[in-house]
Amino acid sequence: MARTPWFGGNWKCNLSAEDVKKLCASYKSVEIQGGADVVACPSPVYLTMVKDLLEGSKVQCSAQNVSATGNGAFTGEISVSQLESVGITTTLVGHSERRTLYGESDETVAKKVAMCQESTKMIAAICIGETLEERESGKTAAVNERQLKACLPYIKDWSRIVIAYEPVWAIGTGKTATPQQAQDTHKEIRDFIAKSVSQEVADKVRIVYGGSMNAKNVKELLANPDVDGGLVGGASLLDSFIKDIPNQGN
Ligand code: PEP
Repeated sequence: MARTPWFGGNWKCNLSAEDVKKLCASYKSVEIQGGADVVACPSPVYLTMVKDLLEGSKVQCSAQNVSATGNGAFTGEISVSQLESVGITTTLVGHSERRTLYGESDETVAKKVAMCQESTKMIAAICIGETLEERESGKTAAVNERQLKACLPYIKDWSRIVIAYEPVWAIGTGKTATPQQAQDTHKEIRDFIAKSVSQEVADKVRIVYGGSMNAKNVKELLANPDVDGGLVGGASLLDSFIKDIPNQGN
């Protein structure tokens, strides 16, 4: 089954406004080959700026996080409807840094997915993945399944879901899952979705890899049948991101 590749550049809490302008200009200077979906995920303070700067290119602007609540007395939060009101229709949900540094539980992540699904536009890129200890003790599949299972009751529109498999031990560490590890785990995730939802959904949903993806390893990772793209941190801050990752991984 042919799935449109999906790539995200997660800029995390990096870059000044000036840096953002330069990076957007370099993203725009390279044509995206082969019709992949590509999003850039800046800090919230730059969301509208990045959206405007990327106007006319194929790169969309995405949030890195969204509130589990709607509008109201929720200081510091950004709701799905607020994002949509400024034209942002993709968000990451449950990034491992949110889970580990800010205590987001599976239930909180699931509520965020539910908020995204309650709207008619918001695409949620749900991040899941195991720690090194969990991998070494053979718990990879159980962890991924537990994290996904919490979200399943809230997902009605699978066309607005992307799954980012991001082994925690590979994020920002320079250690990448081997192509075989990535393929085996993506296949396990797809099989779990086939069993828990349907074969049709499993065949269609994009499962992308994240964890120190770069210009050198992207081709091998993307050569696997169940790896449909990438969520990229460090390498997405490089001017060469579009050339190095989406255009090589297509
Ligand atoms: C990420 O933050 O989602 C990520 C994969 O980071 P890096 O590419 O730097 O490992």
